[in-house]
Amino acid sequence: MLYPLSYGRKQPANIITRKTSQNPPDTLRNVKRSALILALLAAHISPAVAVDIPVLCADKTNFELRTSNVMKGCLETELSLGEAPIPYSLTAPKKLNETLELRFKVAQAAAKQEGISLAITSGYRTLNRQTFLFNQAKRKYGSFEAAAKWVAPPGISHHPRGLAIDVNYPKSPNSAKWLEINGYKYGLCRVFENEWWHFEGNIAPGWKCPKMMKDATALLNS
Ligand SMILES: [Zn+2]
Repeated sequence: MLYPLSYGRKQPANIITRKTSQNPPDTLRNVKRSALILALLAAHISPAVAVDIPVLCADKTNFELRTSNVMKGCLETELSLGEAPIPYSLTAPKKLNETLELRFKVAQAAAKQEGISLAITSGYRTLNRQTFLFNQAKRKYGSFEAAAKWVAPPGISHHPRGLAIDVNYPKSPNSAKWLEINGYKYGLCRVFENEWWHFEGNIAPGWKCPKMMKDATALLNS
């Protein structure tokens, strides 16, 4: 039912006074209201609710994506794209991170549906390979700093950590642009302003990508 705005003001003054005197003081009412709000919030963050977040699941054979609607996550015929940025590994891996590879394969399958061709042209690199590439860049650009803009030093680069992929380098920047625009859906982001080909799994699928770094020298201070 709708009341005119003046409804409250039409009450006789004595009734308003009596009501006020019978109600608890404002501070007590505020405490009760706060307690009620806290109770409602607590009900919302009970463990059963907290873990029930949607998980993106990829079919193991065709890499089609499905949003899981159950708490236990993906089916046995599926793999999870992960629910967080792919963590940095303290131990040196021997291959590309499996979740990163899966995210790329799902993106690759989705791009193919739109006639876009994506391929990893460089993924995991051994430290020796990264050292070779960095030394080559030093000779080409003349100094450590200049080289580090294009090839991160071996201890800094995310390629030997299995956490970075170069896509379509050097020939197809237009197709790689598809991944730059759509990659966040699969947890993939372009990382450097000067490298259109370099992507990492630095977000949870569906998050927005962070602002790009100017070049790989930003990693020297991180
Ligand atoms: Zn790269």
